[in-house]
Amino acid sequence: MKNLELKNRDLEVLWHPCTQMKDHEVLPLIPIKKAHGVYLEDFEGNSYIDAVSSWWVNLFGHTNKYINDKIKEQLDTLEHVMLAGFTHEPVVRLSERLVKLTPDGLEKCFYSDNGSSAVEVALKMSYHAHLNDGKKNKTIFVSLSNSYHGETIGALSVGDVELYKDTYKPLLLKTIQTPVPSDLSIKAAQDAAYEFEELCKEKADEISAIILEPLIQGAGSMHMYHTEFLVLVREICNKYDVHLIADEVMVGFGRTGELFACGKANITPDFIVLSKGLTAGYLPLSVVLTTNDIYAKFYCNYNEHKAFLHSHSYTGNALACACANATLDIFENDNIIEKNRVIAKYMGDSLQKFLELKNVESIRQTGMICAINLKGYAPELRIGLKVYNYGLEKGVLLRPLGNVIYFMPPYIITNEEIDKMMNTAYDAIKLLD
Ligand SMILES: *Cc1c(COP(=O)(O)O)cnc(C)c1O
Repeated sequence: MKNLELKNRDLEVLWHPCTQMKDHEVLPLIPIKKAHGVYLEDFEGNSYIDAVSSWWVNLFGHTNKYINDKIKEQLDTLEHVMLAGFTHEPVVRLSERLVKLTPDGLEKCFYSDNGSSAVEVALKMSYHAHLNDGKKNKTIFVSLSNSYHGETIGALSVGDVELYKDTYKPLLLKTIQTPVPSDLSIKAAQDAAYEFEELCKEKADEISAIILEPLIQGAGSMHMYHTEFLVLVREICNKYDVHLIADEVMVGFGRTGELFACGKANITPDFIVLSKGLTAGYLPLSVVLTTNDIYAKFYCNYNEHKAFLHSHSYTGNALACACANATLDIFENDNIIEKNRVIAKYMGDSLQKFLELKNVESIRQTGMICAINLKGYAPELRIGLKVYNYGLEKGVLLRPLGNVIYFMPPYIITNEEIDKMMNTAYDAIKLLD
């Protein structure tokens, strides 16, 4: 098999995500034959460092032996059983562990199978919890400007990235966006919290929840803000009876330097949404954790019609749960959060040299994510695409978000591989000039 052969067969029958398919008349589609560690390998033996963790999901490298073994073990025991009326050991064990590891007070786990559907679960639960409390008017969700929460209709409604949202606006729920802190400073956090409180003063009777990506807005070009904002939003939510939904789909499982971003700010949201890293990049699984207080609002005799009648066919899939348990084993056994601090420091140090480049405007880092803003190239120039193509040529998978180049590698990356990843981006940016 050759790269070209598979590419041609692909384009006959596939429609790829987030892609103008016509681009593939000129843009290479990369067939991947196999992968190991941070490397993806094609059919002609070229390999690529996966510097974006395969769309932010991979934590411990591809075909990780420990995870592979655990999934194989589960495969011969129980692959799946429906979770209504039934249960199994991997899902119970995973839930016990998540309750322990997430911020204090999150006590119940509700499963789903991707980030967007879990966001939908959290939104519906929030509205429904208020309704069960007799508050019928809390029908509006607030989110931050520049936010991203997925692409199903409800999740898209609380998002604010035009590229994904604009076309579908006539279909979406009515939501309100309050400003995200403009930078990493405490002052920006306080200013944005002030705006949110002003909104609550006026409209809290109609607001069910605020949903936000704690500390880093991923698809919003890796925009970062201070933990103080989370602390203030938590206080405001308490004061105005508004739920706080923390969408940790991207930042969860160590990306910010702590296991969970809310833990870094020392707050407990009413709902935390987890997916991506939950299975270390192997299998689709997501979960919403909430408090016993919220759970209790749905607990009554069947005929009172307060139950949360939401389901997905693959809710709590046993293979995915076994994989998530293996992921948590690695965090526990290999001291990952500690090791990540060392890797993050090395990445942060290497990042400084980008400031030498004339076309670099700014750099920033939170934990295991580094980002570089390039100076205002017009969108039509598709600068990101040029960097992407250059990276592939040199064996590094970079996937810029417009004029923002970022690094979000698996946690097993070595210093040597970081050097290659960063140097390739450096050369690519230099060549743009
Ligand atoms: C990726 C992402 C989602 C959506 O998850 P999918 O599994 O792609 O549906 C939601 N929220 C955030 C913050 C994300 O990064």
